[in-house]
Amino acid sequence: MKPLLYALLSVGLLLAPSAHAQLAAGSMAVQWNPGAEDCAAHPQPPLQVHPYNAQTFILRENPCSTEEAPFMYLLLGSSKALLIDSGDVADAKLMPLASTVMSLLPGEAAAKLPLLIVHTHGHLDHRSGDAQFQQLAHVDVVGTDLAHVRQYFGFKDWPNGVAQIDLGDRIVEVVPTPGHYPSHLTYYDRTTGLLFSGDFFMPGRLIIDDAEADKASAQRIVDFVSQRPLSYVLGGHIELDADGQNLPMGGSYHPHEHPLPMSKQDLLGLPAVLAHFNGIYSTDGIFVMYNQTRMLWLFGAGVIAVLLLIGLGVRALLRRRNSRRLLRAG
Ligand SMILES: [Zn+2]
Ligand SMILES: [Zn+2]
Repeated sequence: MKPLLYALLSVGLLLAPSAHAQLAAGSMAVQWNPGAEDCAAHPQPPLQVHPYNAQTFILRENPCSTEEAPFMYLLLGSSKALLIDSGDVADAKLMPLASTVMSLLPGEAAAKLPLLIVHTHGHLDHRSGDAQFQQLAHVDVVGTDLAHVRQYFGFKDWPNGVAQIDLGDRIVEVVPTPGHYPSHLTYYDRTTGLLFSGDFFMPGRLIIDDAEADKASAQRIVDFVSQRPLSYVLGGHIELDADGQNLPMGGSYHPHEHPLPMSKQDLLGLPAVLAHFNGIYSTDGIFVMYNQTRMLWLFGAGVIAVLLLIGLGVRALLRRRNSRRLLRAG
């Protein structure tokens, strides 16, 4: 190659717009319905839809409809639509998920864009809505157990490797992130730079089933995003208030919630946060990390210890009474 041409090409490459500049813009300006303390007195729409942009929708189930109040994400490509998670409510009369999603798909009734439903993981609050789509044409639902996930996405060396979903002019990358759940997946949309992290990473409690797998996932996702532009990290729930305090569990009212989006910087800090996890229960900044099974075992062991102590106390008391009675009789 001639030096001049090489120099011109080099300058051209340097001046090429960065990948950041190419991300499709969107808006996170939304006020999520907070639910209510008395849902009967203050009924709210069961499902809220926020258009991030014309091809990307964020759906949220109201805390009055389910205490989990999960988020779901709908991405439209030119040949296919993708729904990430289907929420906590199976009954279409209580939660109009399928009808809402279908109404957002372009095309008339018979010629709707085909829909693929995938999940971040198999906990029921992320897949109960699958039932509403079963009878619909041109809808495929991917299972959530590890065998299904590995086979569908072609992960030969789980949890390594990155799969792709081609929606037509829109590629979504799929990264294994086990730890909260054995087949947990995180999705990255190249078009918007959004990362959908489910319950692996969110403004809330990080429930960690397998600490070693979770730490490895954190490093894997940090390596993955370090090569890519990232607009927002969007998880499966909001469980913190605006001050970073945990909202009470099981409540139907989420006043002053922490914003849903987390930043690339937040995510890059995850390995350091997880390094403080003692395997049972730890806190670091806004994050509470715990292993539910071990907490239950610990609670169970505590209850048994208290019962044993009470039993021993009662036995000692009875023995003392008996010996007093014997003394008096003697
Ligand atoms: Zn979960
Ligand atoms: Zn969840």
